[in-house]
Amino acid sequence: MDQNTREQLLALFQGKLNRTIQMYLETCTRCGVCTPACHAYASIPVPRYTPAHRAEVVRRIYKKYFKAQGKVLPLWGQAKALDDTAMAELFEAAYSCTGCRRCMVYCPFGIDTQQITAIAKLLLVGANMEPEVLSMLADVSISKGESIDEFKEGFIKGIERLEKQVVEKWKSHPSGTPIPLDVEGADLLYVALAGAHSIIPAAAVFNAAGEKWSLSFFEAVNFGAFVGDPTKTKIILDRIINEARRLKVKEVSICECGTAFRVMKQLSGSQPFYVSSLTEVHARYIRDGRIKLDKNKIDGSVTYHDPCQIARNGGVIDEPRYILSHLTDDYREMSPDPRYNWCCGGGGGLVALGEETYDFRMKSARVKAEQAGQTGAKILATACENCQTQLDNLNEHYKLGMDVRFLSSMVADALVE
Ligand code: SF4
Ligand code: SF4
Repeated sequence: MDQNTREQLLALFQGKLNRTIQMYLETCTRCGVCTPACHAYASIPVPRYTPAHRAEVVRRIYKKYFKAQGKVLPLWGQAKALDDTAMAELFEAAYSCTGCRRCMVYCPFGIDTQQITAIAKLLLVGANMEPEVLSMLADVSISKGESIDEFKEGFIKGIERLEKQVVEKWKSHPSGTPIPLDVEGADLLYVALAGAHSIIPAAAVFNAAGEKWSLSFFEAVNFGAFVGDPTKTKIILDRIINEARRLKVKEVSICECGTAFRVMKQLSGSQPFYVSSLTEVHARYIRDGRIKLDKNKIDGSVTYHDPCQIARNGGVIDEPRYILSHLTDDYREMSPDPRYNWCCGGGGGLVALGEETYDFRMKSARVKAEQAGQTGAKILATACENCQTQLDNLNEHYKLGMDVRFLSSMVADALVE
């Protein structure tokens, strides 16, 4: 690595050094309490998969360049030069961490290892060493936001092709449009993923509830966040914020995508609209009597996987259970309880990397597969696309024999007058 690149990367590092991050980097006592908390280490017990090791890879660079001893004593054992070897270690640390923050709830100091590995991701982006596919997907989202008029016609045609299936799920719809688009003054803007599975069940439930809603032109997923690029994350987020402001909606509801929900909820700042997850909206409809569900429509015992970004990191824990209490009399909670739930092992961009990460995802999520299997439930419900894909892979790999389902599709299937 040449000196110029190193200086640019250190400038990026310095930009992240607020008081909280410095506290995280300086407080760790290596007590090891967080070690068994990480699903990767619990499933593959080798030191490089401990939270403390991942953080240490970043911390050593911090000590070398931002602490007095590291600057004065070049061979100080705890400091490490930012070179090609260090970049390879940063890659391994960043892309073996799903950002689930389970380690944080165990750490007596509340050290957020995800925020430390975010520095690793940022340095990889700065050195053009991040997974190319994630950056490319982020660029596609950005380009769609910049030239939405070119995409609109194709998008509208694609949506029209889904309308029949929405009406098959729920015939009555107050506006006469099964999937309304671009509705100024709508109460709720729904931001879906690219795919019928994310639009049809949600549309049926909105229509059943008599919601005055509008579908967003943009997909919810934020690949900028997966790749750890704050600039791209913000541009992708702003497309939705600007659309919501233009339509003057009161609420922006994010589909079953954990990262999209967390990013919108935590990074959109003060806005004239409320941010909700689709799960929260469905729970509200049931509570307010706007939709009714028939338990007979769901066949077999059910367990629920809490997506880390929606539950532990987003606070949505009671709502899915409330919904499930209206869907089944045979709900089986996983152990341990939701705040300490095992990560599915697919977050942080790992599922988006597909086959490339498959082997690691399967091995590092053994504890998740065991946790789900121990419930004996027939249906494994969840509310995040990443989790659903990963759980589906785990189901097949570990031969769990479960039916992995989106919670929203179960709600749509159980709708009754
Ligand atoms: S955030 Fe999750 S994956 Fe990352 S180190 Fe902590 S427990 Fe492990
Ligand atoms: S629990 Fe906290 S203090 Fe202990 S090793 Fe982990 S991060 Fe460091």
